[in-house]
Amino acid sequence: MKNIYFLGECMMELKSTDESTMNQSFAGDVYNSAVYLKRCFPETAVSFVTAVGGDQISQRLINRCEGENLSTDAIFRHPNKTLGLYLIETDETGERSFTYWRSDSAAREIVDFLDDSVIARFSANDMLFISGISLAVIQPSHRDKFWQIMEKLKALGVTLVFDPNYRARLWQGADEAKEQIEKALTLCDIALPGVEDFTELYNLHNAEDVIAFCAPFNVPEIIVKNGAASVVSHCDNETVDHTIIPVTHVVDTTSAGDAFNGVYLGARLNQQSVADAIGLAAQAAGVVIQQPGAIAPADVFQQALSD
Ligand code: ADP
Repeated sequence: MKNIYFLGECMMELKSTDESTMNQSFAGDVYNSAVYLKRCFPETAVSFVTAVGGDQISQRLINRCEGENLSTDAIFRHPNKTLGLYLIETDETGERSFTYWRSDSAAREIVDFLDDSVIARFSANDMLFISGISLAVIQPSHRDKFWQIMEKLKALGVTLVFDPNYRARLWQGADEAKEQIEKALTLCDIALPGVEDFTELYNLHNAEDVIAFCAPFNVPEIIVKNGAASVVSHCDNETVDHTIIPVTHVVDTTSAGDAFNGVYLGARLNQQSVADAIGLAAQAAGVVIQQPGAIAPADVFQQALSD
């Protein structure tokens, strides 16, 4: 059976509900994708790869992963660091703002835990998903070791999947981000970029230009997300435009791309065609944006997908 591994950071999320109360949950791009994949494809083995602390809140994240039926064997406990944290506040006009405390999180040290015994758990045809956020939070001094590990996994036959997911504030500057993102494009087998990331970084404004940018990296499977406009695939030198059914009642677009990525990869691991996988992924993302927060309630998500 093939396994898929999602490597990155999951943070503790706090959301103000009123002056004196906050709602606590967990979210992070690769974690969100892992959850949505597993909910759609319960038979697929899904692992979350990260570092957390030895404290109670870290244990609660591990419990939450277990509650979502993710494998937690590759969640490592750092002796003196803990989860990153972010706070969502909403002003009187409904505008949301985000404040982060993540610069010293345990997840930034993940590379220290990826020794040969971890690499030995991977087999040919497994998948490993990383995002631009996974790359941004890795300590710069750990990057050489990280890329050596990626090259070893690729040599083993692991399918490497990458979503650039650019967050300017996580990088020292655009050049540093570009260098790491282009390194990932060189190695990956599947790329799942969003047009917006490339607008910010490379001044590209449509899916065709993003594909033209990625093509020289020889990525065999490129799927470009562009909000409600369309999804464009580029596989075997063929570019196909896939129509998206627009959602009119959008509540919160947080994690639309994450849900898309998770469900797309689940469908591909379960032998669905690129077109069918995009159809299902877009349907799942369409459900998620009609719910508040990164992780839609499991029953609402499952019910909406089966309708
Ligand atoms: P990201 O969250 O990475 O910025 P997008 O905004 O492109 O990514 O959204 C990811 C996916 O969510 C899209 O490919 C599409 O399938 C779906 N989606 C986003 N916005 C809408 C919308 N208004 N109506 C329907 N589907 C949408």
